[in-house]
Amino acid sequence: MRILLTGGAGYIGSHTAVVLTQAGHEVVILDNFCNSQRSVLERLKSILGKGLLCIDVDVRNTASVSKALRDYQIDAVIHFAGLKAVGESVQNPLKYYANNVQGSISVLQAMQEVGIKTFVFSSSATVYGDPKYLPYDEDHPTQPMNPYGWTKLQVEEILHDLSKSDPQWKISCLRYFNPVGAHDSGLIGEDPNGIPNNLMPFISKVASGELPQLNIFGNDYLSKDGTGERDYIHVMDLADGHMAALDFLSNNSGWHAINLGTGVSTSVLELVEAFEGVIHKKLPKEFVERRPGDLPIYYAKVDKAKNTLGWEAKRSLQDMCRSSWDFKKKNLSPAQ
Ligand code: NAD
Ligand code: UDP
Repeated sequence: MRILLTGGAGYIGSHTAVVLTQAGHEVVILDNFCNSQRSVLERLKSILGKGLLCIDVDVRNTASVSKALRDYQIDAVIHFAGLKAVGESVQNPLKYYANNVQGSISVLQAMQEVGIKTFVFSSSATVYGDPKYLPYDEDHPTQPMNPYGWTKLQVEEILHDLSKSDPQWKISCLRYFNPVGAHDSGLIGEDPNGIPNNLMPFISKVASGELPQLNIFGNDYLSKDGTGERDYIHVMDLADGHMAALDFLSNNSGWHAINLGTGVSTSVLELVEAFEGVIHKKLPKEFVERRPGDLPIYYAKVDKAKNTLGWEAKRSLQDMCRSSWDFKKKNLSPAQ
């Protein structure tokens, strides 16, 4: 298949590009590099032994997306392109709705014009909101707690309506839990600029000495050890999940929301201990106030992914920590 990956230069997109290419698919990346580096293309070339086509375009430029779909005779689109910083979405909601919702509509309009109807969407567990029960299954009520989450849910709704309007559409909304880790080569991974918001990149920067200590947000939650619990999933497992979703859609039309997680709930302290085990060193850490807006615990029910996609996460917490650390060691910031 020829697959267009919007946002394919980003964290999850680049790992998915590796998996799809190595499985024999032809991948074309479309990205405006607002949150990624062009150097990722060289790194993908080193991993794959061949270069990937890349179009430097904003997904909101519908004419350019249509042209790409035609020029490269694309069969399916995986739509990763989007902004993902929850805090920024609260500060600047219009930027998020414009990029994430308008951007998705633009890609879908281009697809409709060209007659391509297979679409995989990067959704998020954040669509569920406050847990009414756990683990979240796909039928759990949806009530996002911030504009970022609403952009994801609104696109899911648009996709649902689209599939009802035309039964030829084949749509999968993949609700990711907490992607972490990196490709085994250490060449691609998650490398946010400045001070990371997310736990794993923060831990990596403490381990490398780029940050002095880890602040653990809260130790008084009703969780296994008082710290927050999440469902961390290795980015390579997530990448495999996208290929499974495409395989599934080749025989199934309609709209399908599917959780991609491990089904395992891991506390902040458990993740830190796993990381310390990998680097054979204790990390400086301190308990601080809870982070406003944080949910105490959430994790995925994974039966639907197993039953419909025939996919399940295979990699361990140690694999996630080891690959994150290998990536960090190869990508220390210039001052280190
Ligand atoms: P990322 O920021 O690393 O990758 C997104 C890519 O999209 C970047 O390369 C960016 O340059 C590109 N992009 C953004 N807006 C664009 C636009 N208008 N036109 C063209 N390209 C554009 O993020 P990621 O972690 O790889 O996430 C990929 C997708 O998965 C996003 O939609 C995100 O919301 C979603 N998601 C991520 C997580 C997570 O924790 N990483 C969890 C759930 C869902
Ligand atoms: N967390 C923390 N210190 C940090 C970053 C995160 O204690 O510097 C905690 C956070 O409170 C949550 C968990 O780690 O319980 C995962 O946070 P992350 O931001 O990675 O994911 P999200 O909260 O978006 O699921």
